[in-house]
Amino acid sequence: MTTLAPELEALIRQLPKAELHLHLEGSIQPEMALSLARKHGISLPGAAEGIEGLRRHYRFASFEQFLTLYLAISQCLVDAGDFTAITVDLARVLAAQNVRYAEVTITPMTHVERGVPEAVLLEGLAEGRARAHRAHGVELAWVLDIMRDRTEHAEPTLELALRGREQGVIGLGLSGQEQARWPLEFFASIFSRAREGGLHSLPHAGEFRGPEGIWESLRWLGAERLGHGVRCLEDPALVEYLAEHQIPLEVCPSSNVALHVCPGLEQHPLPKLMEAGLSVSLASDDPPLFSTSLTDEYLRCAATFGWSVETVLSLAAAAVEHSFLPESRKRELLTAQRSLVGGG
Ligand SMILES: [Zn+2]
Repeated sequence: MTTLAPELEALIRQLPKAELHLHLEGSIQPEMALSLARKHGISLPGAAEGIEGLRRHYRFASFEQFLTLYLAISQCLVDAGDFTAITVDLARVLAAQNVRYAEVTITPMTHVERGVPEAVLLEGLAEGRARAHRAHGVELAWVLDIMRDRTEHAEPTLELALRGREQGVIGLGLSGQEQARWPLEFFASIFSRAREGGLHSLPHAGEFRGPEGIWESLRWLGAERLGHGVRCLEDPALVEYLAEHQIPLEVCPSSNVALHVCPGLEQHPLPKLMEAGLSVSLASDDPPLFSTSLTDEYLRCAATFGWSVETVLSLAAAAVEHSFLPESRKRELLTAQRSLVGGG
C-alpha cells in the first residue's frame, strides 16, 4: 500500500463518476435505518443501544449474517415515503462523491411479500428518483432483481420490471446465494422475455460460485454485464471469451473482502482482471454495510495497486461506457472527466 499523491486523491474525489453495482436496500445508512425503524416501531439488531449499537451490527462474519441484517433493514421499508426517503438519501451520498449516474438494484418482491403493494413501491421509487435528480443532480436507473432461491418471485419481478420501464427501470437482475438449488436454466425464459421487452440482463455471477456460474449466466440469461464475475480467472477459456466479447464486470473489491470472496484487498484479483484485457469498472455494492463508498473504492485500490492518473481515468470512463446511458449523456460525462486533467 502506497500513500496516494494528493493530486491523485483530489482527482478521484472530483471526478464525475458513474456507478453500476449498487443495491438500494444495501445503501441505507445506519441513521436512516434507525429513523425508519423508530417510525414503524420495528426493532433492529443492536438498535436498543442507539446508533452505535446498530453500527456494530454493520459488521458480519458470513454471507448469511450479512443477509440477515440486510433483510432486517428491508423490514423497515413500509410506505411510499420510505422508498422515496432512502432513494433521496442515496442520491445525497452519491452527489457528495460526484457520482452523477447510478444503476441501482432493488429486490422488489422481498417488500411485496411483506405486504407492500407493488403500486406503493413503484410510486415511492418514482418520486425518489425525480427528487434525486431535482435536489442532487443525480440520475438514477433501476435494476429489478430476483433472489435466485425464490423462484416464485421471478415472474412477478419480470412483470413489475416491464411495467416500470417508463419510470427508469432498465434491467433485470439475479442475486442471492449463488449455490442455490435451482439451476440457472430455470430463469432462461424470464430473462429472454425481459430482453425482448427491452430490459438488460444484469445477473450476479462468479462471486461465490466459480466459472460454471458465469458460463450458465451467459448461456441461459444472456448476461450483458456481470455483477462481480471475479472468479472467471479460474477458467482461461472463459477469460478469453469475456475479453473477446467485451462483457463488462462490475467489480466491488471491499464487498469481496468483507464477504470473504478474497482474503484481503492486496490479494484482490482486480489487477489480474485488468491485465487479462477484461472490461471492468469499480463499484461499491452495499456501501455502508462494507464501510465503503465508490470514492473509497477508488482511493483504496489506487493506494493498494499503485494506480496512475491514467488508470483511474480509464476505470472511471469504463463505468460510463458500460452503462446504459444514452450515447449523448455518455459523451458529456466522458468529456467532463477528461476536462479535469486538461484533456478537453
Ligand atoms: Zn450485489
